[in-house]
Amino acid sequence: MAKQPMLKFVTVGRDMPEKRAADARAHDFQEIYAEFAERKAEEQAGRCSQCGVPYCQSHCPLHNNIPDWLKLTAEGRLEEAYEVSQATNTFPEICGRICPQDRLCEGNCVIEQSGHGTVTIGAVEKYITDTAWEEGWVKPLTPAQERPESVGIIGAGPGGLAAADVLRRAGVQVTVYDRYDRAGGLMTYGIPGFKLEKPVVMRRNEQLEAGGVTFRLNCAVGEDISFEQIREEHDAVIIATGVYKSRELQGPGAGAQGIVRAIDFLTASNRAVNFGDSVPEFESGELNAEGKRVVVIGGGDTAMDCVRTSIRQGATSVKCLYRRDRHNMPGSQREVANAEEEGVEFEWLTAPKGFKGDPVNAVVVQKMRLGQPDATGRQSPEVIEGADYDEPADLVIKALGFEPEELPKLWGADGLEVTRWGTVKADFGSGETSIPGVYAVGDIVRGASLVVWAIRDGRDCASAVLDRFAATAVAAE
Ligand SMILES: Cc1cc2nc3c(=O)[nH]c(=O)nc-3n(C[C@H](O)[C@H](O)[C@H](O)COP(=O)(O)OP(=O)(O)OC[C@H]3O[C@@H](n4cnc5c(N)ncnc54)[C@H](O)[C@@H]3O)c2cc1C
Ligand code: SF4
Repeated sequence: MAKQPMLKFVTVGRDMPEKRAADARAHDFQEIYAEFAERKAEEQAGRCSQCGVPYCQSHCPLHNNIPDWLKLTAEGRLEEAYEVSQATNTFPEICGRICPQDRLCEGNCVIEQSGHGTVTIGAVEKYITDTAWEEGWVKPLTPAQERPESVGIIGAGPGGLAAADVLRRAGVQVTVYDRYDRAGGLMTYGIPGFKLEKPVVMRRNEQLEAGGVTFRLNCAVGEDISFEQIREEHDAVIIATGVYKSRELQGPGAGAQGIVRAIDFLTASNRAVNFGDSVPEFESGELNAEGKRVVVIGGGDTAMDCVRTSIRQGATSVKCLYRRDRHNMPGSQREVANAEEEGVEFEWLTAPKGFKGDPVNAVVVQKMRLGQPDATGRQSPEVIEGADYDEPADLVIKALGFEPEELPKLWGADGLEVTRWGTVKADFGSGETSIPGVYAVGDIVRGASLVVWAIRDGRDCASAVLDRFAATAVAAE
């Protein structure tokens, strides 16, 4: 009888791929986790308990068929595992690297609930697809037949690219417009290389281009081309522009030199370090932490990326101010632990009151405590009077979150309805907006969210666009 490859969670402990030592990884921008060796991946996949109702799957935004691809991996049937995995996910190797698995699939793994430690789902997903690329199993994007309809996609982030992939595979003529010079959105210029190495993103861009997707880069809609023109050129338009307006700091001195936005800091670092681009603000030191006392303000994933980037750039000290405590921060606990190992100091329950010097030389910090829960159930931070102190700083990075740009105004698109938060009003499921034939996906609909949700939206929206084309074709017959 064949050996049972699954249900090994009782005898085999949870194991992640090897993590590079903090002092070695804190000096470069390479990813910090190694790849599983083949035997290890099989062994870890074999810990899955093959639940009848897999909570991991229902908590994955893409409803990935996780138990099936874990079983195939445990049986050494890796190419089949890849086929199952890629059937629901456009970029499995990217999600395997950067999904906050502790809040999604792995956080709902049943064997985790029973105290055995979750199956390392993300690491196995990454292993399967990285192997598929190495072995040549990732098929080129070749539509069975060309179709006459064309779709214009504004924004080459994961939402736009996931939609482009589905539409192009169906033979639709796809043009993606982006104001940056490279495709990938925040996967290219926001998320640092130590979480997601750039060749992983670039090879997906190349695959789409080789499959016939037209990219019009360095093309800002609203400036280089009008929204109306794009609507005229295509049978449908998908807005996938993300959210880029940074929330600003208040208080005396908030406009001083040396106080910079997280997105500018991270983009400069990604360009200069990962792509070798010439970035004057990085070279001049304006957007470079080298030799500086850095204070990052915020407690989300962007703040975590800023503190860890500062360490790698050679800051003399890196402190993170967050107005709630560790337990109540929005960022991933795994990333906080990584940051602490690399030398970042967290000052919980603190908020900036003002800034000294121009260029800045200190943050005036007020201490906070957690008060009564607010309407959302979260405890609101309250100021402790008379406990202020000065935190020396040469570079202050604002990582307080992002809001949508005012698209209707910027694009002269009065008919495009937005919510009171400025996000585009779109049907969850199809992405249809208030303008017929115009759809929207990803962060511009949800507000700042996750890559995996943008992929889900892009895929769903592309299916809805294809349904619309099919209905129009039937009506014309
Ligand atoms: C620093 C940082 C770290 C993050 N880390 C993670 C993580 O670890 N895991 C995770 O899941 N998520 C992470 N996220 C969130 C994730 O990156 C986003 O949720 C996701 O990229 C949203 O995808 P999108 O396609 O909606 O938009 P984006 O990725 O923002 O792409 C939008 C694209 O539209 C283009 N664009 C905008 N306006 C125009 C215009 N007028 N004309 C032409 N082009 C335009 C932009 O140039 C951009 O390329 C992080 C975000 C940030 C900022
Ligand atoms: S896509 Fe993200 S949530 Fe879904 S299985 Fe992969 S790592 Fe987990």
